[in-house]
Order: sequence, then structure tokens, then C-alpha cells
Amino acid sequence: MTNKDEFREAGFATRAIHSGQAPDPTTGAVIAPLYLSSTYAQERVGDLRAGYDYGRAGHPTRTSLEATLASLEGGASAHAFASGLAAEDAVLRTIARPGDHIVIPVDAYGGTYRLISRVFGQWGVAASPAQTASLEAVEAAIVPGKTQAVWVETPSNPLLGISDIAALSELAHAHGALLVVDNTFATPALQNPLMSGADVVVHSTTKYIAGHSDVIGGAVVVRDGATLPRGREGMAGSGSLSEELRFQQLAVGGNQGPFDLYLTARGLKTLELRMERHCASARTIADFLVAELGDAAVLYPGLDTHPHHEVATRQMSGFGGMVSFRAGSPERARRIVESTKVFTLAESLGGVESLIEYPYAMTHASVVGSALEVPADLVRVSVGIETVGDLLADLAQALGSAG
Ligand SMILES: *Cc1c(COP(=O)(O)O)cnc(C)c1O
Repeated sequence: MTNKDEFREAGFATRAIHSGQAPDPTTGAVIAPLYLSSTYAQERVGDLRAGYDYGRAGHPTRTSLEATLASLEGGASAHAFASGLAAEDAVLRTIARPGDHIVIPVDAYGGTYRLISRVFGQWGVAASPAQTASLEAVEAAIVPGKTQAVWVETPSNPLLGISDIAALSELAHAHGALLVVDNTFATPALQNPLMSGADVVVHSTTKYIAGHSDVIGGAVVVRDGATLPRGREGMAGSGSLSEELRFQQLAVGGNQGPFDLYLTARGLKTLELRMERHCASARTIADFLVAELGDAAVLYPGLDTHPHHEVATRQMSGFGGMVSFRAGSPERARRIVESTKVFTLAESLGGVESLIEYPYAMTHASVVGSALEVPADLVRVSVGIETVGDLLADLAQALGSAG
């Protein structure tokens, strides 16, 4: 279904539209049809027409989406899953065994922490939260001989902290560990961690990649040549991370269904265009919030007051569409998120519509009481692509009515 990427040298938007997305060879349909069949006719035993035998093992739309994602991240392979957490679960099953250790960020998606600490904790995998913006803190958290991976989210959720991918990959590799980067907030349109030395990128494609808040999905993208740490043998044999992830898709099966694969591939085509607008409007909103609340209250990597603005400028080509701010008190934060009319009060992010939320009791409720607890006066906004004047007016009225 997919040929070698003939668009390898092309620009980002061209690859988002054409890599892995060739017209259907049988009919010429510019948008390849969506196959709903779970199984495939064989000419003779084991003689497959296009390499497909059963939907868990492979699916044409999955092959196609994975080729696009691999191209956009500059990876050897991409692997689509039914959710961002299913993708993370596959990475963790691939790299961690009982007795292993992982360094995780103190500032991360709550569900990632819950998966690593509560699920993998039961399987004997230990995790230490560290401030991944600090190389010293990460180095101190590494357990020599046991740490298989340093996990980092940059920009982080919801505090929009920035970690230095190139420096962390050197540090992780010096200790025989892999660097895994959750690139959900930046997307490949703004940041390519594999190009800076990371071994694995994970995405919640639910967010910017699908981009329209109508699908749940995840993906893993693997650096060319990446293998399991310390020469360990994998479950598929060779220890190549691409083969190991492919094996997880076959043997565990947390894969994305056809229609969701299709919606994800469709959303991805406009990613660059959407990100440009998300970035421009988020900047306008961050500036407005600084004028209203002061520098110290506004968290946005594009502001030169952000503590890691310089690292963000080096590793990102834009600062993204997420802005967080401190409302001053939990009560005021709750009143603000309940007073907007264009921004919808809802979890999630990365869609065309603007969303606002109160992390302490919503997205990050599962980390209250842990090292990852977020400030109780924090508000997080996902800046959509509506007319920016309407977004500003809505925030102004919400801040005004919240007192
Ligand atoms: C949403 C999110 C996830 C989890 O993805 P799901 O698709 O909800 O399973 C992981 N990481 C980040 C940064 C997220 O925002």
C-alpha cells in the first residue's frame, strides 16, 4: 500500500499531505478507501495479496498513517495505538522489566504518572520523579545499571516547563538509558526530538495531530537504529525498537481502529497550518495575560521571562498553543474557567476550538498528594484557531467577572 517515501526531502506540509498517502492503486481514488474488513483473503496458504492477513497484525490505513508520522518525526518507524496511554504502555512494556527503573518528570500528564506508578509499579518497575528541566536533578535520579529510560515531556503539561532534549539524550545515553520524549504539546511541526538524539517519541494523537477533538489515539515513533538498552534481548528477538513495537501491536493489540486511523491521518494534513495559528494566537493571549496579571503569573515558553525560554528557542520552531496562568486563588481560578463563553470548560487540548480547564481538579486530579501535584490556582488554556479578538474579549470578560 505504501511505497518508499519519495517525499523524504520535501517540506513538512508536503510530507504531511503526501508521505504514506498515495492515491489508491486500484481505483485512483485520491483519498485511499477505508477498509473495514477484519480479515484478508489468501491466494494460497500464507500467500497474501498486499501483506495483510488480519486486522490486528496490520491495516492499510494504519500502514499509511504510520508512514506519514514516521516521515514527520524523522523516525525509522511509527506505531499507531488506540490512545496516547496505550502507546505509552507499549513503550513501557518494550523497555522495562521487573527490577528496572525509569526517571519520570515531576511535571507530566497525570495519566502518564498514573500508568507508570500505579500499573507498572505493580509489575516491579520503579520510577523516580525528577525536575527534568535540571540536568543535575535527572542525573541524581538515575540509578546506575537499573535506569532503562529517562522520560520527559516538553513543553510539559500543565506547567509548560521546557527540558533540553539534546542534553538529556546525552545524559541518558551516558548511563546506558534511552530518552523517551512525549511530544504531544509541540507536535512534529514545532519540534523533532529524534533529530536531537531522543530514541523514542510518544504522542497523544488525540490532541493536535488529529486536531478536531473527535478521536482518541496515540503513536510511538522510533529513532533509526534505536535498540533496547544494554544490549538486552527483546520479545521479538532482535532488540530493535521498531521490531519490538511492531511486536507489541501484534501480541498485545492496543491498536487504533480504521475510522480513528482515518480521522487522524486527515487531521495531520493540516497540522502545520493549524500550529501556525495556534502559536500566533497563544502568543497574543499570553501577552494579554501578562498585561492583566503580571509576568510571574503567566506560563508560556515564548515569553522571554520563561525560565527556559532560551532552550525553547533553540529546540522549537514555535512555542505552541498552550498557555497556563496563576489566577491568585483556587476560588478565582474556578470562577474564571466557569465564566468563559468562547473557551469551553473541558479537559483535553489541541483541537480547533479553544478550551479552558482547572488542572488541580480536572486533568491532574489523579496526582493531587503526589510529587506531581499542580498549584491549586492554576488555569490552563488550549488556544484554538477561532478569531483571536473573540478569544481575547472572552478572557477579558471572564477575568473581569471573576473579580
Ligand atoms: C492526553 C495526553 C496523554 C494521554 O493521551 P490519551 O490519548 O488521552 O490516552 C499523554 N501525554 C500528554 C502530554 C497528553 O496531553
